[in-house]
Amino acid sequence: MNDKKLMEYARLVAGVGINVQKGQMVLINCPVECADFGRCLTTAAYDLGARDVIVNWSDDAVSREHWLRAEDSVFDAVYPWDILRNKTLAEAGMGRISVDASDPENLLGVDAERLQRWDVANGRDNREFYRSMMANGFPWCVVSVPSLKWAKKVFPELDAQQAVDKLWDAIFAAVRVTGDASAVKAWQDHCKHLETLCSKLNSLRLTQLHYTNALGTDVVVGLPEEHLWLGGADTSKAGVRFVANMPTEEIFSAPQRDAVDGVICASKPLALNGNLVEGIRLTLEKGRIVGIHADKGEDVLRRAIETDEGSHYLGEVALVPVNSPIAQSGLLFYNTLFDENAACHFAFGEAYPACVKGGDDLPLETLKARGINAESSTHVDFMVGTDDLSVIGTMQDGREVVILKDGRFAL
Ligand code: ZN
Ligand code: ZN
Repeated sequence: MNDKKLMEYARLVAGVGINVQKGQMVLINCPVECADFGRCLTTAAYDLGARDVIVNWSDDAVSREHWLRAEDSVFDAVYPWDILRNKTLAEAGMGRISVDASDPENLLGVDAERLQRWDVANGRDNREFYRSMMANGFPWCVVSVPSLKWAKKVFPELDAQQAVDKLWDAIFAAVRVTGDASAVKAWQDHCKHLETLCSKLNSLRLTQLHYTNALGTDVVVGLPEEHLWLGGADTSKAGVRFVANMPTEEIFSAPQRDAVDGVICASKPLALNGNLVEGIRLTLEKGRIVGIHADKGEDVLRRAIETDEGSHYLGEVALVPVNSPIAQSGLLFYNTLFDENAACHFAFGEAYPACVKGGDDLPLETLKARGINAESSTHVDFMVGTDDLSVIGTMQDGREVVILKDGRFAL
């Protein structure tokens, strides 16, 4: 990895990811192992005129100790000062960058019940904050840089330094950073391409999608009448364009909460709460997940789906072709930010309000009436795309249209 590319990446995240505005507060969540990148992000944010940059450092080893050894009651409530910080910064319209580089199995062996209780407590105590984030109340961006254990998980055959270098190469390719300062332009073009795809799908006014493949997925996903397909950049409440995930290759919408029926088989392992869940098979009836199976990590998956009533329903339907650049790398990243952008996916839990027309400004009850899964404290993506996936859409007049054939867009 070279310094020039690292700084270009940081400038891309600060400038396009959260699109820092003069006088804006910036919060960066960053692992200590990736301090170099955290420092570059800080410089880039100040260069763009940030009022102040607050870095919230984390560490896998410390976090593992916390999960294994903190007193049990700690997992039932968020500390008031953390709630206050989130709330204050959200109201101030901060830009929030999260650097995700954890060992995908950092919390292996931690009591799944603790993880679930924390999910419930965090969702409840930070509800306003997460709701504001889901409704684009402030710009936010999730990115990744390599950490040693994560790199070794992706490239187990390589020695440590080689694995980290290889993961850097894969990440730079995925986020279009080449070191020649062309990344910002590349992202503008890329977002335009995704927006064109969305327009095409939106003009079809689909009522449902039917997914099938040889892995066993056979599911009909209803779409709300006023659903919208989104992709590329989002717009914050203050009217600032930002990109919530880098990379992003998806176009996505929200399913009709009570109109998903069939079986969904995941096509990749899912890194969930520091555990790997493999061989997922979910059965849905009238939108509700009624059957949960995983070959590995079933307990962690079950606890996540049982977080609250809303987490039993799907909140996202996302299309990513198998010829997307990340999919073509052929790598399994064990990190949702990358794996979800290499395959079609769904999420269980809360939907993004913007997936229905004008949704960011609608109250909860109206969002529910529009048919999306508007209330859950969780949102977990899991991958279903394969190179034989067929997705057939139905239009309002009953005509069918092939959306994906053999995992590729047929539009
Ligand atoms: Zn997604
Ligand atoms: Zn998602």
